[in-house]
Amino acid sequence: MKTRVRDIEHVLEDWAPSTAAWEEDNVGIQCGNPTMVVRGILICLDITEDVVRDALRRRSNLIVSHHPLLFHPLSTVTPATHTGRTITALIRNEIAAIAVHTNLDAAPEGTSHALAAALGVHHPETLDQSSRRSVKLVTFVPAADVEGVAHAIATAGAGVIGNYTHCSFRTEGIGTFQGNSDSSPAIGRKGTLEHVSEIRLEMIVDRDRLPGVVAAMRNAHPYEEIAYDIYPMENPHQRFGMGAVGDLPRPTTLGVFLGRVRRALGTGALRFTGNPHQQVVRIAVCGGSGSKLVEHAIARQADVFVTADVSFHRFQDAAGRIALVDAGHHETEYPVLATLAGKIREACRARGVRTPVAVSAVRTNPVAYV
Ligand SMILES: [Zn+2]
Repeated sequence: MKTRVRDIEHVLEDWAPSTAAWEEDNVGIQCGNPTMVVRGILICLDITEDVVRDALRRRSNLIVSHHPLLFHPLSTVTPATHTGRTITALIRNEIAAIAVHTNLDAAPEGTSHALAAALGVHHPETLDQSSRRSVKLVTFVPAADVEGVAHAIATAGAGVIGNYTHCSFRTEGIGTFQGNSDSSPAIGRKGTLEHVSEIRLEMIVDRDRLPGVVAAMRNAHPYEEIAYDIYPMENPHQRFGMGAVGDLPRPTTLGVFLGRVRRALGTGALRFTGNPHQQVVRIAVCGGSGSKLVEHAIARQADVFVTADVSFHRFQDAAGRIALVDAGHHETEYPVLATLAGKIREACRARGVRTPVAVSAVRTNPVAYV
């Protein structure tokens, strides 16, 4: 069996669906043919010309990056820009590229969970559970057909709440309709105003499962024209969200913990606010630019919040309320690359293919420390 670019795209979509990404993000296949057979896969945070050279050396023809190579609209592809040179190198060498960005941040076991694990945080939970990940699907079904319709849409993935499946709510009511001369109603006659006893069936659905669920509902529903509503929901999602929070196995001082952060992430220098002698046990993290989550970290009673790109005013606001740590953008995101490689490797193995998967050894951090 062969692995194609779109197979890897599906693997990533299953774990970190593109619907979990921020609206203004640009994730998924960035360049290349989805049907191309994949010889090897290279994982990195950023695609640079050196990473493309690394891929060529390893005979990898698919690069999976965290940051999208194509983010801002391009007006030219020329050697004058880094993006122009890199995209040219990819196309010339028939290398495809896929980005998993904010969808990877939000995914279970995503960027921040990998960071938390690297810092020794046990059983981290999601710090800011994302809302708007779910919708409520409501449809109106004759009583005799309600079990069949509910079963079909539950099988397609609707009605999952925590450890429970097939969750639904049903209320009885009267539906009315009058078919025109072209109609063929399942109940009653065309041209007659019908009153039918129906069940209002409602179930929660993950946004990324919605197309499959609606298709299953259409298949199972007896009506020619199906009345249904989709409502956006503001409920926090249990599995998706930004950041992570959890406890260290035992309390330590902030000073000792910061030493651990530096060693674990290989950060040249840390910027932080807090007292190095204070005891810390509850650690919140967000890989990359996560400092806007500081209030969430405080609300979850974290002693420390490790993130990156922290501004002076964020430090000022946090001082005395939480130990805020800037451990570097590249450094706080790097741990997820091993998870990403592991997920892809596992999926290839499950398909019975041995596609080589490696994390690039090229240093792509533009920041240095003195
Ligand atoms: Zn980033």
